[in-house]
Amino acid sequence: MPIDRAAARAGAILTIDLGALRANHQRLQQELGDVPCAAVVKADGYGLGLEQAAPALWRAGARSFFVALPDEGLRLRRCLPGARVYVLGGLFAGAEPDYVEYDLIPVLNTLEEIERWSAHARSLGRSLPAALQTDSGMSRLGLPDSEVERLAAEPQRLAGIETRLIMSHLACADVPAHGQNAEQLERFRWARERLPAAPASLANSSGIFLGQDFHFDLGRPGAAHYGVNPVPGKPNPMRQVVHLQAKVLQIRSIDPGRAVGYGAGFRASRPSRIATIALGYADGFLRCLSGRSFAWYEGQRLPLAGRVSMDVVTVDISDLPEGRLRPGDLVDLLGPQQGVDDLAEQAGTIGYEVLTSLGRRSHRICRDD
Ligand SMILES: *Cc1c(COP(=O)(O)O)cnc(C)c1O
Repeated sequence: MPIDRAAARAGAILTIDLGALRANHQRLQQELGDVPCAAVVKADGYGLGLEQAAPALWRAGARSFFVALPDEGLRLRRCLPGARVYVLGGLFAGAEPDYVEYDLIPVLNTLEEIERWSAHARSLGRSLPAALQTDSGMSRLGLPDSEVERLAAEPQRLAGIETRLIMSHLACADVPAHGQNAEQLERFRWARERLPAAPASLANSSGIFLGQDFHFDLGRPGAAHYGVNPVPGKPNPMRQVVHLQAKVLQIRSIDPGRAVGYGAGFRASRPSRIATIALGYADGFLRCLSGRSFAWYEGQRLPLAGRVSMDVVTVDISDLPEGRLRPGDLVDLLGPQQGVDDLAEQAGTIGYEVLTSLGRRSHRICRDD
C-alpha cells in the first residue's frame, strides 16, 4: 500500500470514515422521525477532529450543533458559518462579547448566568438568544427546581433573553430499564410548564432509543455519531467511524523465560516472536490496556505482551507464520474486528473515553466515499 510522506513519518494512523459519520447521522435522524437531529461535537468532535466532523455532519443535514466551551464555539463558527451553535458549559464570565460576535448561544445553567446575559442584552439595547437548561436529576449542570420556580414567579428575570431551547440531560439513558429515566422525563415536563414556551430537548444518543416520549423537539446525540453503541447489550445500529492502525518498528525472537517491557510484565513461556509497534499511551492507547487487548493483522488476533509504554506497545506474534509481518507493516488496533466499544470494555471504560483520548499524535486521514 503506497503511503504519503506524512503517513510515512507517523507511528499511528487514524482514519476517519466521513461516509460512515454521515450515515450515522441519517440513522439517528431516522430514529427521530420528524424531530430534527442536532450534533454534539464537543471535545474536538469526540477526538475525531472538529473541522472534519462538523462539516460532514452539516452535509448530512445537521443544523444545530453543541460544544462544551466558548473556545470550541469559535472554532466551530469558523468552519460552519450558518450553523446554530450552543455552548453547553454556559455563559463564561468575561466572554460575553465573544458569544455575541460569533453568534454562540449560551446554555444558561444558573440564575446568575441569566442575570448576566439579561444585563448584557440591556447594555447592547437588543435581545440575545439563549437555551435554558434545567437539572432534571443529574445534579451537574442546569437550574435546580427551586430556581425554575423563582423564574416562574419572576419572569422579568428573562428580560432581553430570547429563549430558543429548553433542555436537560439524562443520566441513565443507556440503561432503558433504569427508573431514573421516567423520573427525569417527569421533572423535565414539570420544569417546561414553568418556563417560557420554547422548543425542548432531552435525548442524547441513548435517549433517542428510549422512544418518542423522550424526543421532544430536538435530538442531541454525540457519541452514536462516532460509532459508540447507544444501545449497550444489543447489536450496534451505528457504523464504525474510526480505524486505528500502527506501524511495526522491530521484530525479534526471544527464548522462553525472557521478559518483555517495563516491569518485566510479560515473560515468554515458549520460543516467541515479539513485534514492537509505534503506538503508546501518549497516542491515547490507554496504559490500562496492558495485557488485555489485541492487535490484528490479516484477521489474526495478536495479544499485547507486557505493558503499554509511552510510544510503543509490544505484541506477541508467535502465532503468525514467520515472515508474514514485517517492519513498516501496519497492524489494526481499532478496526472491523475490534471496535471502539471492545477497546473500552478491555480498558474498563466507555467508548467516549477511548475516542476522546485518540488523535493527539496520530496522523489523521479522512476518507469520504
Ligand atoms: C455530551 C452531551 C450530550 C451528548 O451525549 P451522548 O451520550 O454523547 O450522545 C448531550 N447533551 C449534553 C448536555 C451533553 O453534555
